[in-house]
Amino acid sequence: MRVASGKAMEMLLYLKDFVKAGVKTMDLENACEEKIREVGNMKAAFKGYNGFPYCLCVSVNDEVVHGMPSERQLKENDIVSIDFGLLYEGYYGDVAMTYAVGGISKATRKLLEVTEKALYRGIDEAREGNRLYDISHAVQECVEGERFSVVREFVGHGIGRSLHEEPQVPNYGTKGTGLRLKAGMVLAIEPMVNMGKSEVYIKENGWTAATKDGSLSAHFEHTVAVTGDGPVILSRA
Ligand code: MG
Repeated sequence: MRVASGKAMEMLLYLKDFVKAGVKTMDLENACEEKIREVGNMKAAFKGYNGFPYCLCVSVNDEVVHGMPSERQLKENDIVSIDFGLLYEGYYGDVAMTYAVGGISKATRKLLEVTEKALYRGIDEAREGNRLYDISHAVQECVEGERFSVVREFVGHGIGRSLHEEPQVPNYGTKGTGLRLKAGMVLAIEPMVNMGKSEVYIKENGWTAATKDGSLSAHFEHTVAVTGDGPVILSRA
């Protein structure tokens, strides 16, 4: 799982160089597919999952998750969330990151920073003996403390031989509740954070979630193992 997750993160970092004004989101998809072919021995986890047709989820600005690569061109000041899952020798890794396209405003920068910080707060609670919603609570507290909101309709998840396993890992919850975390569990922790209100809707393509109020949304994700020695981020490049 460390290899699967690490390679998934390497892909995200590889794609970062492609994120520029004028680039189409489909260019990112094509770059990803080409890289997979070149490297070999790994499979994009999302392509074909419940009929999703692409390797990447590329969500721009008010899009939260499950954005579809398209002819849309990125512009200066956009933010783009790239979510990528990988299958390697029977195991899955799942990662996401939001990139800025060129210079972005201070407020937008803050959204990205807080979402990433919330991810690490959540990860820090992924410890043997803690409760599941300790993770959720830590994420929520970090986000709401900065007056942003967490998306409720989509959640993190267990991961392993399947892309999505039990338990669900919401980004909101009550500290000290939920199942007890045990060494060996692996979780995809993934705060989805809106600058405005938390409500989302699904676009006409039937997949893409976007904020109802049109506010920007960011998404960061790591695949994390619970061990006897604390959380281990498996998705290090
Ligand atoms: Mg995920």
